[in-house]
Amino acid sequence: MKKRNVAVIGAGVSGAMSARLLQQAGYTVRVFEKEMTPGGRAMSWRDPNRDIVLDSGAAFFTSFYERLIALLPELGLQDGVHRLSRQFDFVSPTGIDRFNASNVWASAWSTLWLPTLGLADKWRLTVYLAKINAQRKKLDWVSPESLCHLDDRSVADDAIEQVGEAAYHAFIRQTIEPFWFMPSEQVSRAMFVSMMSNSAGASFYSFPGGIDQLPSRLLGDLEPSFGAEVHALLEDGERTKLCWRDADGEHEEVFDSIVCATTASVAAKLCGSLSAKRYDAEQREFLEGQSYCENLHVAFLINREQGHPVSLVVPAGVGERDIVALGLCGERYPALRAEGKEIVSLYFSPKASRRYIGQSDEWIFKDTWARAIAFYPSLPVDAEPLHVALREEAIPEFGVGQYKKIASFQRLQRPDLAFAGDYLAGACIEGALASAERAVAAILSGKSK
Ligand SMILES: Cc1cc2nc3c(=O)[nH]c(=O)nc-3n(C[C@H](O)[C@H](O)[C@H](O)COP(=O)(O)OP(=O)(O)OC[C@H]3O[C@@H](n4cnc5c(N)ncnc54)[C@H](O)[C@@H]3O)c2cc1C
Repeated sequence: MKKRNVAVIGAGVSGAMSARLLQQAGYTVRVFEKEMTPGGRAMSWRDPNRDIVLDSGAAFFTSFYERLIALLPELGLQDGVHRLSRQFDFVSPTGIDRFNASNVWASAWSTLWLPTLGLADKWRLTVYLAKINAQRKKLDWVSPESLCHLDDRSVADDAIEQVGEAAYHAFIRQTIEPFWFMPSEQVSRAMFVSMMSNSAGASFYSFPGGIDQLPSRLLGDLEPSFGAEVHALLEDGERTKLCWRDADGEHEEVFDSIVCATTASVAAKLCGSLSAKRYDAEQREFLEGQSYCENLHVAFLINREQGHPVSLVVPAGVGERDIVALGLCGERYPALRAEGKEIVSLYFSPKASRRYIGQSDEWIFKDTWARAIAFYPSLPVDAEPLHVALREEAIPEFGVGQYKKIASFQRLQRPDLAFAGDYLAGACIEGALASAERAVAAILSGKSK
C-alpha cells in the first residue's frame, strides 16, 4: 500500500514533534520551514566570536514538562541539561526581597518572610496556594479540556478576591508576568492554576548547548526544506496542494494531509482560500481571532565584580512594568564565570516592547541598559551588547474564555488538515509538544480511509 504523504508547515517545536510522530507512524513526511534553521520561538543565537549560546526565545523547562522529560533520553539530551538555582530578587518601590524557590519548603518559608506583606496577607496567600497545589493530580496543565472549568475569570480578579491587593501585587503577578510577559488582568485564571498546581517545588532546567537542539533532534533524519515559505493551501480533489517559494522560485506539490504548525495568524492566512468543507467557519473564526503579545528580549555581557547570587530578578508592587524579568545566566556559563563575566537577559512587557519596533539595535541596547540599571542598581554601568530579539507574535494570549474556545476548536481537527502550535495547549515547549500529539492523533484517525 502506498504510504500517505503529509506536509508539516513549520519546524518549531510543534512542527518538529508532529513530523517525528508521523514518521514513526509510517507516513512519508516533508517539513517546510521559512527560516534557514529549525526552532521558531525555541531558537538559539550563537556568538560568532566566542563560545556563547544564548536562547533568544524559550530558555528553560521544569520537572513538570512530562513529555519533554520523557523525550530527553530518546533524543540523547539527558546529559545536556543544567539545573537552575532559583533564587529570585523581587524589586519593589520599598526595596528588594530575596526569594528562595529551590523547593516547596524554601518557597513557603520565603513567602512567610516577605517583608512587604502583613501576617494576614501571608496567611491568605499560603491557604490560596495550598488549595491550588491540592488540585495538582486532577489537572493536565497543557490540556484545555482539563482547564475549561477554571476559565471563568482573570488571574487578577480571582487573586484579588482570594488574597487581597497587597499579596496580588507582591507575589501573584510574579508567577505570571515574568514568564508570559502580559499583565495578569489579561490572563485567564485557568493558566495561573495550571502553572501553580504543578510548579510548587518544581526544578527548573536549561540546555547550555542551546534549546534549539530539541527541535533539531526531534527532526532526526528528516531533512526539512529550509528557506521554504509556504504561502497558500489549495484544494485538489480530496487532497491539498501546497504552494511555496524559496530561493529557486515558486513551487507546488500535492499532499494527502497537512499539519499547519505555525502561529495562528499564519495558519489563518494559509487556509484562507479553502472551502468550508475543508476548513469550516468555526475554525476560521477561531484562528483569525487568536492574538499574541509582543516581546523584546535583549542580552548583554557584564563584568561580575560583585557576584549576583540570583538567577532571576522580577518587579513587584503596584503599577505597570516595563521590564518584566531580568535573567542572570552566570551559572549556565561556567567558562564565562571563570573569566568574571555574566550574561544578562532583559524581557520587556508587550506595551514597552511595542515602543522599540522599528528602532535600531544600537538605540535599543542603549535605552534598555539605562532602564536595566535604574531597575536593578547593582548592575554595572557598562555592558557589552550581545543580541536583540523583538517578536511581534511572542506569546499566545490565554485570556478568559480561551480554553473553552480551544477545546471546541480541537474537536474540529481533521485527518486531512490539522493544526499544531502552543496556542492550542499552553504557551510553552510542553504545550507545543502536547499540541503536536493532538494534531497527529487527528491525522492518524483517518489512516484507514
Ligand atoms: C521570549 C520568549 C521566551 C520564552 N520562554 C519560554 C521558556 O523559558 N520555556 C518554555 O517552555 N517556553 C517559552 N517560550 C514559549 C515557547 O518558545 C513556545 O511556546 C514554543 O517555542 C512555540 O512553538 P511552536 O512550534 O508552537 O511555534 P513556533 O516556534 O512559532 O514555530 C512556528 C514555525 O513555523 C515557521 N513558519 C511560519 N510561517 C511559515 C511559513 N509560511 N512557511 C514555512 N514555515 C513557517 C516559523 O519560522 C517557525 O519556525 C518563550 C517564548 C518567547 C517568545
